[in-house]
Amino acid sequence: MLLNCPHCQKANRVPDERLAEQPVCGSCGQNLLNGVHELDASGLASLQAQSALPLIIDFWAPWCGPCRSFAPTFKAAAQKHGGKIIFAKIDTEAQQALGARFNIRSIPTLAVFSGATELGRVSGALPPAQLEELIGQVLQHIDGSHKS
Ligand SMILES: [Zn+2]
Repeated sequence: MLLNCPHCQKANRVPDERLAEQPVCGSCGQNLLNGVHELDASGLASLQAQSALPLIIDFWAPWCGPCRSFAPTFKAAAQKHGGKIIFAKIDTEAQQALGARFNIRSIPTLAVFSGATELGRVSGALPPAQLEELIGQVLQHIDGSHKS
């Protein structure tokens, strides 16, 4: 699949089976998965069609204060869990069609996808502990162990 480097924005072609192996950027050498990917419609379509990893998207906008204060929390989570979940953000100001398509009514909104299927969403800037909890739920869901 094509994955834009979250650090230098260069497109990298990554075989699906290598996604689990912490692939690095061919241009800047940094880990391709431990950052937040900025998506537009084609980037999103590519990820949903080709990535076996769950996808968590932060719908945000530059004018939104809570969104900006949530960004470091989200980025830290991406650095921690990057090999297991793809972290992405969509600027609903620049990508208004996407905001409309996903019926985003308030920002920030976090939406979790497996392929093109939305597993759930939560609105509001989550504190780190709550974001960790959400990520834990996603990982548990993906494991297929529905024990809780
Ligand atoms: Zn790079």
